Amino acid sequence: MTTPFQRRPGFLPFSKPTIRQAEIDEVVDSLKSGWITTGPKAQKFEEAFAAYTGFPIALALSSATAGLHIGLMALGIKPGDEVITTPMTWVATTNMIEVLGAKPVLVDIHPDTLQIDEAQVAAAVTPRTVGILPVHFGGAPCHMDPLMEVARKHGLWIFEDAAHGVGTLYKGRHVGCFDRLGVFSFHPIKNMTTAEGGVLVLRDEAMAKTLRALRFHGLEKQAWNRYAEGGTAQVEVIMPGFKYNFMDLQAAIGLPQLASVNDFNNRRRELAALYQDLFADVPELQLPVMPAYGHHATWHLYPVRVKEAFGMNRDAFMTELKARNVGTGIHFKAVHTHPYYQQKYPGLEKVLPHATWVSERICSLPLFPAMTEDDVRYVVAAVKDILARRTGH
Ligand SMILES: *Cc1c(COP(=O)(O)O)cnc(C)c1O
Repeated sequence: MTTPFQRRPGFLPFSKPTIRQAEIDEVVDSLKSGWITTGPKAQKFEEAFAAYTGFPIALALSSATAGLHIGLMALGIKPGDEVITTPMTWVATTNMIEVLGAKPVLVDIHPDTLQIDEAQVAAAVTPRTVGILPVHFGGAPCHMDPLMEVARKHGLWIFEDAAHGVGTLYKGRHVGCFDRLGVFSFHPIKNMTTAEGGVLVLRDEAMAKTLRALRFHGLEKQAWNRYAEGGTAQVEVIMPGFKYNFMDLQAAIGLPQLASVNDFNNRRRELAALYQDLFADVPELQLPVMPAYGHHATWHLYPVRVKEAFGMNRDAFMTELKARNVGTGIHFKAVHTHPYYQQKYPGLEKVLPHATWVSERICSLPLFPAMTEDDVRYVVAAVKDILARRTGH
C-alpha cells in the first residue's frame, strides 16, 4: 500500500538564495565603514573571483547584462556585424547584440543536452560574422574545442555567457575565458548571488582598460581612488561610458558567497542526482542529460521536458504543481519565440526545430542548496500524483 499524496503546507519556490549570518555581517560592516559604493571590497571581490576561476583579470559590474553590453563594445562590434549564438538563453544575451545594431544569428541546440550545436555554428559563419557567443546552459559547459576550432579557422572571437557557470569546468578547466572574454551573473537565482551583479573575465590588460572606462562614465580612474588618500581629484573622460559599477555592498554579499560556492554547487549536484534517481520510472518526463565530453556541471537548473505522453502540456503541468505548493520556472522561452525577435526574424521556428520543441515543453523544478531531500521527494511525489490523476487515464 502506498500512502496517499498529501499537499504540503508551505510553498516550495523553484529557487532561493542562501543568505547566512556571514553575508549579513559583511553588509553591516560595509554600511558602518562609510564605503557603500565601489571601493576596497569590490576590488577584493574581483581579486578573489580571478583567483577562483584562474583568469588573470576579473571586472565586477552591476549585472551580467551590463557585462554583455560593454564586453561586446570592447570587442569592437558594429552595426551589421553578425554574432552566432543560441536561442536557449535569457534574452539579455541577444538583446545586447541587438541594442548595438548587430545581428544575433541563432543556431539550433543539441536536443538532449540543450547546449549550442557546434556543427550548426560552423555552418552559420558568413563574411559578416565577427564572433560566437555560446551559453554554458544550466551550469554544464558547451563543447569548447570545436567552437574554438571554428573561431580559429575564421578569425572570430568567442565571448562566453557563463551566467550559469560559476564552478563549471570543461575538460578540467574553468569556463569563462577560453578565448577573449566571458561573463558571469550574480542575480539571486544564479548559483551564487550579490543581489544584482556580474563579472567579466579576461586576459588582456588593454581590453581591461577600455572596459573599466566603459563601466564608469568613460573615466580613466576609478572614483574611489579619486577620493582616497593620495588620490588625485582630477578625472578625465577618455570615451563616453556607462554607470555599470559594482558596489561594496554587493561585494559584501559576494565574498562569503564565493567562499561557499563549491559547497552550494555540491549540494545542487546531490539533489539533482536524487531527482534523476526518483524520476527514473517516469518516462513521461524527459530528464536533464549531461554532455558526453569531460565536464564538471554545477546544476544551475533542474529542467525537465513535459512529453506528449504526460497527457497535459507544460503550462498545465506547472499549474498542477503550483496547486500542490511547488514553484517552477521556464528556462527558457526560446529567444526567437519572443514577439520582438519573431517580427524581426520571422520563420525561425522551422530553422530551429529542437529549440522550438524544447521552448514549449521545458520546466525548471525546484533546486537550491537549502532544499532538503524530503523536498525533492515531495516534488517527485507531486509529479506522480499529477500523473495518476490526469484526465483520461
Ligand atoms: C541571468 C542571465 C543573464 C543576465 O544576468 P543578469 O546578471 O541578470 O544581467 C545572461 N545570460 C544568461 C544565460 C542568464 O541566465
